[in-house]
Amino acid sequence: MNEETLRQNLTHVRETLATAAASGGYAAPKLIAVTKTHPAEAILPLAGMGITDIGENRVQELRDKLPALEGKFRVHLIGRLQTNKVKYIIDDVCLIQSVDRLELAREINRLAAAHERRVPVLVQVSPAGEPQKGGVAPEDVRALLREMAPMEGLQVSGLMAVMPMTDDAAYLERLFRGMRALFEGLRQEALDGIRMEELSMGMSGDYTLAARCGATMVRVGSAIFGPRG
Ligand SMILES: *Cc1c(COP(=O)(O)O)cnc(C)c1O
Repeated sequence: MNEETLRQNLTHVRETLATAAASGGYAAPKLIAVTKTHPAEAILPLAGMGITDIGENRVQELRDKLPALEGKFRVHLIGRLQTNKVKYIIDDVCLIQSVDRLELAREINRLAAAHERRVPVLVQVSPAGEPQKGGVAPEDVRALLREMAPMEGLQVSGLMAVMPMTDDAAYLERLFRGMRALFEGLRQEALDGIRMEELSMGMSGDYTLAARCGATMVRVGSAIFGPRG
């Protein structure tokens, strides 16, 4: 994709996000450019277009691309993460968005503590109960948060959700609003050691709705880069 098209796509996404968020009474969410499957040469121009944060979902792919990205971006790990792969990315990511089980939290905590770091993480929630996509059921979020709160190697900073594939906008809107309600409820509870600052939801197909329903971060790939081959 040429840079002009990339720039136009970005402008469109940003304007849409701003309008949608304002219509819901929220601030525009932070845009995480999802760069999975795209080579470093295709990603680097984004640095000159104001993109500071990118999302990758595969450990090996991220490792392969990192040197060529020249430290120009903060990297978010947004995909399913195997416990035995945490060690390969822990020093390179600014936020692990996809923590959905205690075993994974423990491994991040263990490695981060060994590196004298505190790694920001989000707890991934499955709003529609689709365990194959990862994510804990909404009713199990508190229990996981309580286990994670004392872990000194990580800092829970909020929630992340992946929505089901559906054309049913009313259903999607209920799920987005449910996530926002869960997020705000937890923020009010102010559990010790837990921060509720980020609500990461919305992808290319549904970021408008997500912004209107109070996402603080959206993860957008194909609406910026075009469809993946
Ligand atoms: C791929 C991916 C995205 C972005 O998907 P697009 O539809 O290309 O915007 C967002 N979140 C996660 C977890 C992903 O794996």
